Amino acid sequence: MTHSSVFHRDLASDLPVVVSGDGNYLIDDQGRRYLDACGGAAVSCLGHDNVKVREAIKSQVDQLAFAHTGSFTNKPAEDLASFLVDRAPKGTGAGRVMYLGSGSEAMEAALKLARQYCVEKGEPERHKIIARKPSYHGNTLGALATGGHAGRRAPFAPLLIEVNHIDAPYPYRMQHDGENETDFGYRMADLLDAEIARLGGETVMAFVAEPVVGASLGTQPAPKGYWARVREICDKHGVLLIADEVMSGMGRTGTTYALEQEGIAADITTMAKGLGAGFQPIAAVLAAEKVVNVIKDGSGKLWNGHTYMSHAIATAGALAVQHVIEEDNLLDNVIKRGAQLESGLREAFKDHPHVGDIRGRGLFWTIEMVENRDTKAPFDPAQGVAMQIGAAAKARGVMTYPSQGCIDGKNGDHVLLAPSYTSTEAEIDLIVETLKAAVSDWKDA
Ligand code: PMP
Repeated sequence: MTHSSVFHRDLASDLPVVVSGDGNYLIDDQGRRYLDACGGAAVSCLGHDNVKVREAIKSQVDQLAFAHTGSFTNKPAEDLASFLVDRAPKGTGAGRVMYLGSGSEAMEAALKLARQYCVEKGEPERHKIIARKPSYHGNTLGALATGGHAGRRAPFAPLLIEVNHIDAPYPYRMQHDGENETDFGYRMADLLDAEIARLGGETVMAFVAEPVVGASLGTQPAPKGYWARVREICDKHGVLLIADEVMSGMGRTGTTYALEQEGIAADITTMAKGLGAGFQPIAAVLAAEKVVNVIKDGSGKLWNGHTYMSHAIATAGALAVQHVIEEDNLLDNVIKRGAQLESGLREAFKDHPHVGDIRGRGLFWTIEMVENRDTKAPFDPAQGVAMQIGAAAKARGVMTYPSQGCIDGKNGDHVLLAPSYTSTEAEIDLIVETLKAAVSDWKDA
């Protein structure tokens, strides 16, 4: 398409016009087919034409679309909230769910909820946020301030609230020689303890982190021991733990919530991408019982509201998505196809001089590109290595999610993969083969 009135991310780019979906493929108006190996940004976890989800949405359209939450609730919103609370990590208790329209809004709502909790608990001096770098928590001002993504923050910096950042664990570059994984996990978690002490424990409101880091670093799980220690530190200081599961949640890493695998529960959890799987724009914030109780015993009111919260079509679509994941046992497929993807990537790139690290969990994997595998020196981000690889894969008919290094030249470009939970064995093989060919295309160019 040569002329466009849509304010695209890249005004110069000539984007294909996508018209339909066929399983895990997208089809453009020229009839070209693209195997979706990233679900956009880890969104489309059921492909693009799931019949059960489409039918559920159509049936809700025929019944009810919208009724304002100031006056009404509705059945799909109630059913989805119960579903999400019932499957939450042990320790969440009788939580409650609020609905938002995007991951960024969910992050804003989570921060405001944390503040409400502190005020209503009689601790109004708690207002400081600790987050990690690198990280990404969204594009609205509060969420952008919380994220530790240097490039995305830079132009807006004067508008951003002050947030304190500690390093996120990044074993490839941070684990010392001879240091075992758990010791590394404890060392990284203890950065939180030190930061809380530096800021004054009684002034800290919340620690925010992604259980498996997504866009900023590329599918990076935390080392063993990290999350249990983080939970202990938060409890010791009365600091809320906010888990941003916008990308890692809803089965992407093999369990409904990624934090489940760490054996702890967060106080507040955000989720989005795999919640509506792209069939509806929807996000949610899950508040643990501990948070809900303070509010119930306090003002009894949620100090947050948006017009389209609990939208009946959005929640009906998301509920159908979650039912399909559960009823079709798709988490088993996430684990099986994830193992295939991991071994395929390790085999394809085991001797590649420019693939420094391969990391991930479930159906959430990344290759990190480096100029020199021995020294781990990254490419200059200005070279756009990952973007070129992503473009080469797209030209070969496979969509990936490439990103530039984002911690001031200290990490490499990466290419992230987040295929659909419905991926077949043949599709995963094709993804690996195509990525390998795309890396060669870039190198030979
Ligand atoms: N948090 C995380 C972990 C994310 O990955 C994203 C989106 N990439 C967001 C928040 C923001 O979500 P949205 O783009 O829907 O606003």
